[in-house]
Amino acid sequence: AKENGKGQLVKYDPELDRDRLRVAELEKELRDALASGEVQPAFQPLVSATTGRITGVEALARWRSKNGPVSPEVFIPLAEKSGLIDALGAAILKASLLEARAWPGINLSVNVSPIQLCNPDFAPFVISTLNEAGFYPRRLTLEITEGVLMSNPDQARRAMDALKAIGVGFALDDFGCGYASIGALRQFGFDRMKVDRSLVWALEEGQGEGILNATIALATALGIPVTAEGVENPYQAGVLTRAGCDLLQGYLIGKPVSADEITRALVEKAAA
Ligand code: C2E
Ligand code: CA
Ligand code: CA
Ligand code: CA
Repeated sequence: AKENGKGQLVKYDPELDRDRLRVAELEKELRDALASGEVQPAFQPLVSATTGRITGVEALARWRSKNGPVSPEVFIPLAEKSGLIDALGAAILKASLLEARAWPGINLSVNVSPIQLCNPDFAPFVISTLNEAGFYPRRLTLEITEGVLMSNPDQARRAMDALKAIGVGFALDDFGCGYASIGALRQFGFDRMKVDRSLVWALEEGQGEGILNATIALATALGIPVTAEGVENPYQAGVLTRAGCDLLQGYLIGKPVSADEITRALVEKAAA
């Protein structure tokens, strides 16, 4: 036990020290993994709700460390805290543009951390990366969460405007699980809204369907198309389609897979 400064004794907790040590180790491993190209994108299909055709893919970062796969829910926040998110985001953007340019007519969505968007170098970096990859900017959509719109609206707006000017699209991610307002959709000129999976999963409960229908109706009234993520069963797909959602994404349609598997799926579809 040691004193906590208020004259009270605090029990020494070896658990806490172990956690800190583990986090420090993981951070070093992530740094090395980024340097050696061990963090790579997987791709999850987005399909048209009405035709079922693949219209796009979302790149999702994957890290297979030597101790096994680490979840993005763990390494993304770690990268954000330790200053590695710019390098991670750059690696995922580059790698996914190089894969996606082989998929004709397919839109690529890439997640952007609020920290990246607030870096003044971000927009110029995206523009030069698109040029180097020879990727048509209109085929790229950046997914961002609302937090940054509140914490740093001016910088977010500057970066978004610079990229929108060359045709890059923006989707407001995780809509419905935080405080993002319909107003923000309009103010910042989003091209698309992504309904959070928690809203989709609440469909089969109490007022879930009413909330979802109202959310989709509001976006639609503003002329903003809606993607639903986390679609796991045909019931959810049916309700979402009837509500006017135009793109569906989720395990029902396909899990995140390697670039090769996306290529195979596209070839099979084309042959069918
Ligand atoms: P997100 O952007 O909301 O991505 C959707 C998450 O839902 C992904 O988790 C995806 O694998 C998962 N998912 C999709 N469909 C289903 C479904 O039907 N059922 C279930 N149970 N899950 C589904 P993942 O890959 O673990 O990524 C978690 C979060 O990590 C992402 O949430 C995103 O916020 C972040 N992330 C992932 N890759 C990147 C990246 O390259 N950059 C940044 N900044 N963040 C990333
Ligand atoms: Ca996303
Ligand atoms: Ca999301
Ligand atoms: Ca999320």
